[in-house]
Amino acid sequence: MSDAVPPVHAMSDATPPVRAMSDATPLVRAEGLVKHFPVRRGLFGRVSGLVRAVDGVDLQLAAGETLGVVGESGCGKSTLGRLMLRLIEPTAGRVVFDGQDMGRLSTTQLRAQRRAMQIIFQDPYSSLNPRMTVGQTLAEPLRLHGLHAGRETERVAQLLRTVGLASEHAQRYPHEFSGGQRQRIGIARALAVEPKLIVCDEAVSALDVSVQAQVVNLLQDLQRRFGLAYVFIAHDLAVVKHIATRIAVMYLGRVVETADKNALFAAPRHPYTQALLSAIPRPEPQARHERSVIGGDVPSPLHPPAGCHFHTRCPHAQPLCSQQVPALEATPDGHAAACHFWRELQGRASPAQPIAIAPARRRLDRLQAAFVTPAPAAPAP
Ligand code: SF4
Repeated sequence: MSDAVPPVHAMSDATPPVRAMSDATPLVRAEGLVKHFPVRRGLFGRVSGLVRAVDGVDLQLAAGETLGVVGESGCGKSTLGRLMLRLIEPTAGRVVFDGQDMGRLSTTQLRAQRRAMQIIFQDPYSSLNPRMTVGQTLAEPLRLHGLHAGRETERVAQLLRTVGLASEHAQRYPHEFSGGQRQRIGIARALAVEPKLIVCDEAVSALDVSVQAQVVNLLQDLQRRFGLAYVFIAHDLAVVKHIATRIAVMYLGRVVETADKNALFAAPRHPYTQALLSAIPRPEPQARHERSVIGGDVPSPLHPPAGCHFHTRCPHAQPLCSQQVPALEATPDGHAAACHFWRELQGRASPAQPIAIAPARRRLDRLQAAFVTPAPAAPAP
């Protein structure tokens, strides 16, 4: 069997142009997505409250684009990823994928549609069945969807080579692989059904930095070859900046800012985004810089603050902030920010800007140098 890697699916191998959202037909569109989880207490499981994990999110993503979703733990980014794949039912709102309202599909239609939407989890070990060989794991979705009937073994070998592993690895079990190799197996499993969209839920967060770089490079290579769209959920802004086309910043279940990644890092509009960027650690401890320090912890999503959720920690909060929810408003420079006072703050010398951004950018550039190392052709560590 030739080692040349044929296309994973029928799409062209040519690099698709990354289109701006304004002139691109969205592959996925989330409209007013809400997910509240009931909290039950007592013998009879009485509902005593609601965890507002996702609280009204509108987003869209074009084919071949990578949307980075960032925010602190508990901000709802993983729940948003699962809602976009309809792995969980929304409390309100809808997801339109490839022109179809996911909430209106029958079970059979949804199963067929799921083929085009896959997920890669943070912990590849717990997402792989330890009793199945890698070959069995990769062949399972092929059988489920009736793909490559009678040629599963060849297809499994092809998938393994596509992600930088060897065909012989099909005979091994998950515990025989390193963390990076297991994540490659997770990617191969997602690719098996020829998806258009992959949600990467903290997909590289548990890996060493050097292995992170290899996996991120692999994801980018696969995107160029197969025109994949990614929702890349992560808390590491350096990694997100490297892979994302656009970034959405979440705080307590809401998107507070979206922008092209370069615009977001150059001039964040929302005070929370400014604080996140200024919190990036710097390699020069002696260097003078100022930080936008936000006090306290993220409030509980059981009892989020009224109005702007961020007002309890925002250094610029005013009375209006606790009374009225700010809309996600488009700015003239292509951002969308959910802040009543983004105009006023724009010209103000923020504690974080512009002093903090230049060294932060230098650090990011250094970190990203690690990512330009080509992924190894041979089996990865
Ligand atoms: Fe801060 Fe008010 Fe803007 Fe919210 S709306 S980010 S509290 S200034």
